[in-house]
Amino acid sequence: MTNPMPEAMRTLSDITRGLSGYNPNGLPVEQAQKIIRDFIVPVHSVEKIAIRSALQRVLAEDIVSPIDVPAHDNSAMDGYAFRSSDLDGLKPVALRVVGSAYAGQAFSGSVGTGECVKIMTGAVMPEGCDTVIQQELAEANGKDQITVPIGLIKAGDNRRFRGEDLSAGKPALYKGRIIRPADIGLMASLGIAEVPVQRRLRVAFFSTGDELRSLGEPLETGSVYDSNRYTLFGMLTRLGCDIIDMGVVKDDPALLEAAVREACENADAVITSGGVSVGAADYTKQIMARLGDMAFWQIGMRPGRPMAFGRINSGGKSAYLFGLPGNPVAVMVTFYFFVRDALLHMMGASASPLPQMRVTSASAIGKKSGRTEYQRGILFQEEREWKVRITGSQGSGILRSMSEANCMVILHPEQGDIEAGDTVDVVLFEGLV
Ligand code: AMP
Ligand code: MG
Repeated sequence: MTNPMPEAMRTLSDITRGLSGYNPNGLPVEQAQKIIRDFIVPVHSVEKIAIRSALQRVLAEDIVSPIDVPAHDNSAMDGYAFRSSDLDGLKPVALRVVGSAYAGQAFSGSVGTGECVKIMTGAVMPEGCDTVIQQELAEANGKDQITVPIGLIKAGDNRRFRGEDLSAGKPALYKGRIIRPADIGLMASLGIAEVPVQRRLRVAFFSTGDELRSLGEPLETGSVYDSNRYTLFGMLTRLGCDIIDMGVVKDDPALLEAAVREACENADAVITSGGVSVGAADYTKQIMARLGDMAFWQIGMRPGRPMAFGRINSGGKSAYLFGLPGNPVAVMVTFYFFVRDALLHMMGASASPLPQMRVTSASAIGKKSGRTEYQRGILFQEEREWKVRITGSQGSGILRSMSEANCMVILHPEQGDIEAGDTVDVVLFEGLV
């Protein structure tokens, strides 16, 4: 079910040739993002599912409204419906109550001049009526009569028009949308029970490193537990991917090649962590390069400098490959700022860039200009102003800084040291992690 080997796709060098000053050993974040975006071709494979199961999935076709919503002109209030031609700007108007209209039970008679109908919110507007006075403004005047005071109500008040929310034949939701709770409700309001969505992406990942131990194994001197597979599990699950966790692979050429091939043959995208930094055993990169069209970058960012990206082929199948650095924070940062957008694009989602907020930095932050720095921050409110402070230690191996943070502070290449009181950009974790 994975992708057959694509023909006639652009190569990485087709794309980078068009970039002025392309330097893989000092690539700005924005250029790397653009290359990835230009290289990736969305997977197109559609399935039809019940709307409740479609939550968080990517809509594969526009949803066109089959009906007008609401289906009739109706009342927006509990009150009395009448003809606006009865209104008299100079004196209160007395109206005789000739019947009632409930939601789901329309008034079937006709309403003449000097008459009104008691009406509930959502009930169909009786024939001839175009205006509703809400109950609390109408003065009851004996059993079957009300008075509309002067100046409180104008023609057309409290009436909802047929088709005001959606009109038949118009798109209600567009292809590429990630379906949210309101969208499920909206589809239900149109009588739509099933929708076409893109199939889930299959993403295979494994960690590399002789020092890594899986949970349950004893931790000898010099070894560490593999945490990257767990953060990747969490991030990919949030993104709605089907995951294939391939465990830890030792720094051994034959084992690595077998793992990369197996991942490629079973998934749309492959994510590895570790082994792509300078000085790491070169065979990881050699294997990746041999299996496809790969670029090996040093990105102008911190954390997350080394990264491999491209498309590999094995056994007649192809997959995109993201070779992330090994450090646990670097894995998360490169995932959020490169892989996430790439996977959304593969899923056919009309992904918008992560929203950034500009807030005040509560403290000074040391920053080297010429690169993008992603610092883990805590956004807080002080005297109604939103401010950010940096979490304690910012080492790229310190996962606790990610866990404590509620946002990422993005310091752009042109920025140098930040003074307390300066404005900085942040990306909220809420809704992201
Ligand atoms: P590497 O990029 O392979 O040189 O790894 C950089 C650092 O990240 C080393 O200290 C590794 O021990 C650590 N590291 C690599 N992979 C993992 C992992 N899956 N879980 C935790 N730490 C890791
Ligand atoms: Mg390693």
